[in-house]
Amino acid sequence: KTFQELNLPQYLLDAIFAMGFDRPSAIQEEALPRILADPPRNLIGQAQSGSGKTAAFTLGMLYRIKVDDPPTVQALCVTPTRELAIQIFQKAVKPMAANMVGMKIQLAIAGTTIERGVPLNAHLVIGTPGKVVDWLKRKIINCKTIKVFVLDEADNMVAENGFRANSLLIKKSMPQECQTLLFSATFPEDVVKFADKMVYKPDKILI
Ligand code: AMP
Repeated sequence: KTFQELNLPQYLLDAIFAMGFDRPSAIQEEALPRILADPPRNLIGQAQSGSGKTAAFTLGMLYRIKVDDPPTVQALCVTPTRELAIQIFQKAVKPMAANMVGMKIQLAIAGTTIERGVPLNAHLVIGTPGKVVDWLKRKIINCKTIKVFVLDEADNMVAENGFRANSLLIKKSMPQECQTLLFSATFPEDVVKFADKMVYKPDKILI
């Protein structure tokens, strides 16, 4: 399969070709038809880093974002570490959103400060569980308009109790119809249980 056959809009195709991607990786070929489907499908994916999973969920988030809609959060990506959040921002979201004029991306990680009491006007937020919960509680993130919720490295979330609890809190705040995409390198029993709580009627893929 080619990226064109996956029905990506031209502005995303141009961006990924500019990044040097020629063809979808195995996980992208499996996951993208489900991620881009209408109505959207929920997904649990087993994928190692290096598989191209970041591009798969990033394209999914960007595909759903309407830059001209009122500026409120439409996609949320939660990761276990600050470093991973920054990496997703720098290496995937930013270059893939290169042709989305007016697109605003916000990191929600330790050390980020934002104006007090002002709701975020970013289209996409990438953050760690604690900071995201804090911003949801303080209504800095308006969760009602979120269309895609991504949880990356679920196995590392489960490993820490606070992360697990915060991820469940975030999930509860999301609109019921919100598309949920969960990725993990491994699926021991506790991660399977966690994933079942986080994702409603998912398609499951294993690469
Ligand atoms: P990830 O598994 O998300 O950590 O991605 C691993 C690396 O593969 C990253 O450096 C991506 O930029 C790169 N990559 C992802 N998808 C593709 C693709 N379809 N073609 C070429 N490189 C890719």
